[in-house]
Amino acid sequence: MRKSIRMVLAMFFMMTLFMSGTAFSASYPDFIVVVKDNDYVNFTDAKPEVIEGRTFVPVRTLSELMGMEVEWNATENKVVLRKDGKWCDIYLGSDKLKFSNGDEITAKVYVKNQRTMAQFRAIAEHFDYEVSYIANGPIARFVSNSNEAVESEEELYNRIKGTIDAERKLYLEEKKAKEEEARKAEEAKYPTVYLTFDDGPNANTPRILDILKKYDMKATFFLLDGNMKRYPEYTRRIISEGHSVGLHSISHDKNKLYLTGSAYSVLNEMSAQNNNLKNIFGVSTDLVRVPYGSKPLMTSSQFWTLRSAGYRVWDWHIDSLDYKSSSSQIYRNVVPNIAPKVWQGIAPVVLFHDKSQTADALPGILDYLKKSGYKSRAIGPSAWNYNWWER
Ligand SMILES: [Zn+2]
Repeated sequence: MRKSIRMVLAMFFMMTLFMSGTAFSASYPDFIVVVKDNDYVNFTDAKPEVIEGRTFVPVRTLSELMGMEVEWNATENKVVLRKDGKWCDIYLGSDKLKFSNGDEITAKVYVKNQRTMAQFRAIAEHFDYEVSYIANGPIARFVSNSNEAVESEEELYNRIKGTIDAERKLYLEEKKAKEEEARKAEEAKYPTVYLTFDDGPNANTPRILDILKKYDMKATFFLLDGNMKRYPEYTRRIISEGHSVGLHSISHDKNKLYLTGSAYSVLNEMSAQNNNLKNIFGVSTDLVRVPYGSKPLMTSSQFWTLRSAGYRVWDWHIDSLDYKSSSSQIYRNVVPNIAPKVWQGIAPVVLFHDKSQTADALPGILDYLKKSGYKSRAIGPSAWNYNWWER
C-alpha cells in the first residue's frame, strides 16, 4: 500500500517538476534555516528556502516535527495534514492551501528533491505555533504555544551560528553549481560567439550598441584609455547595457609597449588604464587585448608579467579586417569562418573595430548568428582566455 502511494506521489512529483521547472530556474531561492523552539532543524532531503519573501519547507518533515498525520488524496491531488481535530489541505499543482477554519489562500506548492514544499508560516500558525522571523541567520522559528522555556533570539543565534554558517556555505556552493549548470545548458543550446570591438569608443559606437541591442546580443569592447575618457557617455552605455569592457592600452604604440626592453611596459599601461576605468566609471576588468595581438611584437616576459598580474589576455580566431574592408567584405571575412569553429566546440573570438563600415556589416552578421542559433555573448568572468601563447 505504502509503496503504491509512493509510486503515485513520485509520478506526480515528476509532473509538477516539469510544470514548475521554468518558473524556478529564473531566480534561485534565498537561504534560511528553521528552528523549532530551541532546536535547529536539520532537513536532510530538501532544505527550507525563501521565495519572494516567503519561507517554504518540505511538508513531510514539517508534519513529523509537529506530530501531524499525513494523508495523500490522489483524487484531489492534495496532501492532508491533521492534528487535534484541525486540518490543512495542500493542493499540488493548483497552488492552494485550505484550512479547517474555512480559510483558503493562494500559495505556491511545488516539488524540490522529490519533496512537496509548502508555505511554512501559514501552516504552522494554523496548527497553533507562534512563528517568528529572525534576521540574523536568517532563522524562521516556530514555537509551541505551550512552550515557555525558549531562548532569546540572540542566545539562539549565537549558539547555532556555526551550524548556520556551514549550512549557508553549502547553500552558496549549490547555488553556484546550479547557475553554472544553467549557463552551460543555455550555451549548449545556443553556442557562444565572442564579438569583440577594439580601439573605441568613438562616434560609431552608439550605432553598434543600437544594433547589438536590437538583436539582443552582447559583445566585448576593448577600449583605448583616451577614447573612453573622451566619450564617457558611450563608455557608460557599454557598461550599463551588459557588454564587457576590456583594456586596450593608453598609447597603442608598439615602441612604448613592446620595444622597451622592460617586462613591465605592457602591464604598466594596462594597470594605469584599469585605475582610470575604476576611478571614472566605477568598474574594473581583468580582460586585456594588447594592440596588434599578443604575437609577435610582445616579448615572452611582457606576456607572462601581464598574466601573472591576473589579466586574461585575448587574441582572436577570426579577423574581420574591417579597418581596410567594405561592409560586404567584412561579412565575407567573418561569416564563413564561424561555423567551423563552433563545430570544433570552440567559441570563436571575432575581431572588429568601432568603424562605420563595421556597423554597416553588423546587422547581416547578427542575422546570420540568429538564424544559425548562435549567440554573441560578452566575455564573462568564467570564460577561459584565448590567446596565442596559451592555446
Ligand atoms: Zn587596436
